Amino acid sequence: MRKKIVAGNWKMNLDYNEGLGVFSEIINMVKDEATGTQEVVVCSPFIHIHSLVQMAKGYHKVAVGAQNAHQAESGAYTGETSAKMIKSVGAAYVIIGHSERRQYFGENNELLAKKTDTVLKHDLHPIFCIGETLQEREANQHFDVIRTQLVEGVFHLDAPQFAKLVLAYEPVWAIGTGVTASSAQAQEIHEFIRKEIAAKYNQEVADNTTILYGGSCNPKNAAELFAQPDIDGGLIGGASLKSRDFVDIIKAFN
Ligand code: PEP
Repeated sequence: MRKKIVAGNWKMNLDYNEGLGVFSEIINMVKDEATGTQEVVVCSPFIHIHSLVQMAKGYHKVAVGAQNAHQAESGAYTGETSAKMIKSVGAAYVIIGHSERRQYFGENNELLAKKTDTVLKHDLHPIFCIGETLQEREANQHFDVIRTQLVEGVFHLDAPQFAKLVLAYEPVWAIGTGVTASSAQAQEIHEFIRKEIAAKYNQEVADNTTILYGGSCNPKNAAELFAQPDIDGGLIGGASLKSRDFVDIIKAFN
């Protein structure tokens, strides 16, 4: 059966000491309180990753991830970080194609497909983000947009590679806005994504794919979202910066 995951995305927040402080609170609370959760991932800025991995040793439910990786193996790409480097400090996941990367850094599906390949080559799990803008939803294009993001971003993978992927449905209009998709809206899209995976691969692959919901998820709405049959956890932005809120979201699975 597919894994239930709650992943935090710290974005460009928390300096080194602040990050270690929040993470220390998270791992202690998870150990004591989050008995039913299968996996907790914290995707921090690069500067924290090595230390967080050291701190997480012995906490088998907690893994660490990056928020981006360059598509090339290495080379003259000033300011960039490679998948090999990320792997070398012990991270397990990399967020690929977050809408902020698509919007502010011009990342398109073609580039994101290359990033996915590179991340997989280094035995890291991509958390591949898809989702429509408000304009696309209002124009009733959301299903087409999501299908295209899947086809161009990840459907070139063979089934064993695809099995290492986590998908995150994040409607752009819900990210950081305080507006959450209703559980029915989110479930509708998650079910659609699973059907698309079944049509491309097969039902078993679809049933084994973890699909997270992201977009203003908080301790109040998490339980209802996570109770939907095709929602396997969350990708959490703002609320992952506060250890108490993040752990309360994690506990929505208990
Ligand atoms: C995100 O950045 O992936 C996200 C879901 O953000 P927020 O929870 O703040 O909406």
